[in-house]
Amino acid sequence: MTPQPNPQVGAAVKAADRAHVFHSWSAQELIDPLAVAGAEGSYFWDYDGNRYLDFTSGLVYTNIGYQHPKVVAAIQEQAATMTTFAPAFAVEARSEAARLIAERTPGDLDKIFFTNGGADAVEHATRMARLHTGRPKVLAAYRSYHGGTQQAINLTGDPRRWASDTGTAGVVHFWAPYLYRSRFYAETEQQECERALQHLEDTIVFEGPQTVAAIILETVPGTAGIMIPPPGYLAGVRALCDKYGIVFVLDEVMAGFGRTGEWFAADLFDVVPDLMTFAKGVNSGYVPLGGVAISGQIAETFAKRPYPGGLTYSGHPLACAAAVATINVMAEEGVVEHAANLGAQVIEPGLRAIAERHPSVGEVRGVGMFWALELVKDRETREPLVPYNATGEANAPMAAFGAAAKKNGLWPFINMNRTHVVPPCNVTETEAKEGLAALDAALSVADEHVR
Ligand code: PMP
Repeated sequence: MTPQPNPQVGAAVKAADRAHVFHSWSAQELIDPLAVAGAEGSYFWDYDGNRYLDFTSGLVYTNIGYQHPKVVAAIQEQAATMTTFAPAFAVEARSEAARLIAERTPGDLDKIFFTNGGADAVEHATRMARLHTGRPKVLAAYRSYHGGTQQAINLTGDPRRWASDTGTAGVVHFWAPYLYRSRFYAETEQQECERALQHLEDTIVFEGPQTVAAIILETVPGTAGIMIPPPGYLAGVRALCDKYGIVFVLDEVMAGFGRTGEWFAADLFDVVPDLMTFAKGVNSGYVPLGGVAISGQIAETFAKRPYPGGLTYSGHPLACAAAVATINVMAEEGVVEHAANLGAQVIEPGLRAIAERHPSVGEVRGVGMFWALELVKDRETREPLVPYNATGEANAPMAAFGAAAKKNGLWPFINMNRTHVVPPCNVTETEAKEGLAALDAALSVADEHVR
C-alpha cells in the first residue's frame, strides 16, 4: 500500500533528521539523506512519490524484502506475549531460533551465541578463539569488512579502518585471493589459490604459529567487492588451521542466509569452520540480531569454565521471533533455491550481456543474489573508474552513475569503483529484469569516463 505522497511530512522528517541525527560513516554537513516514507517487498518510496527498486537490500540484509507479512505478524505476536526477557532464561523464541539456525549451519556448529549484530558477533568469535587457544593474534584479510566496533574495525582491511584504527594488538593482515587484481602475479585461479595459500602459510610461520589464535575470513568478501574465492582456497585455509592448531572463523554476516543461493556460503565450498558469525539475513534485519555458531570442540572449552562475555539483549525475543519466522518463510517459499536459480538464469546472463555493451564494466563476478560489477577507465589496464577510496570530486563519475540509476527508479549499491547487485533473495524475475534494465541505462554515464 503506497501511501499518498506528502512532501510536507517528508520535509519535516528531513529537517528533524538534519537537526538531530548523527549519521554513521559521514561528514554530517556533506550528506543529504533521502526521507523514506515506506517500503514493501523489493521497493521503497519517498514522500514525493518516487519509488525505488532496492538493489541493495538495505545494507544487504533484507533477504526476504521489506515488510514480509508473516514476519511482521510474528513480531507482533511476540510483542503481545513476551516482548523481552533476559538472556539467562530459556525462552521459546530464543531456543527455537537457535535450533533452526543450528539445524542449517554446516558440520557441528550446533551451539549459538546471540549478539545484536555482526560486529559484536566478530568481537565474540575472536574472543572465543583467543580463550580457546590461549594465543593472542588474529589474522584477517586486507580486503574485508568485519564491523564498526573496536576489534571488528581493526580486523577490517578496507579503508574504513584507517580513521578509527588504534592498531589493536594482535591483528595481522594478509592478502586473500582476488584474481582480477592479483597480488601474486597470478594468471589463473589455480595459481591465485596456490600463491595465496603459500602467502598465508608464510604469514603464519613468520608470525609464529604458537601466537596465532584465529584466521578470520568472509567466506565471500562482501563490502570489499564480492570476490568468490578460487576452488580449493577455503579448504586450503581449513588445512592450514588444522596443521597449526588455529581456529578458523568464517564471517557470514553478509554472505549467510541465502545470499549466495545456499543457506551459508560455506556450503558452496564444502568447508566447515570452527566458528561462524551471522547477522543481517538471519531475520532480514527486521529487529537487530547476530550471533556466533560454535563447534563442539570450542563449546567444550566453555562447558565447565564460564565464557566471560555477554550482552543485555543477547537473543532478544522480538529479534528471535523474527528469525524463526524468517527462516520458516525462507524454507516454505524456497527462497534459497530461488536465489540460486534466479542468479544463474537471470542475473548472471543479464550482467554479462550488460558488460558486453558497456566498456566501463571491467569484471562481472558473483553468485546467487551476490554480484559485483567493477567499473574501469580502461579494460586493458584495469585502471579503476575512480581512484581507490575516492571522495568528493574524485568520486564524481560513480556519483553520476548512482544519480542516473536513481533517476531510472533503481537504488544501487556503490562502493569505490564498484556497483553491487544485491537485491532481496526473493526478488521476482520481473523485478530483477526491471533493475537490470535500469542499471544498463545508467551505465552509459559511466562509459563517458572510459578512455
Ligand atoms: N561482517 C560482515 C561480513 C559484514 O558485512 C558486516 C556488515 N556489513 C559486519 C560484519 C558488521 O555487522 P553489523 O553492521 O551488524 O555490526
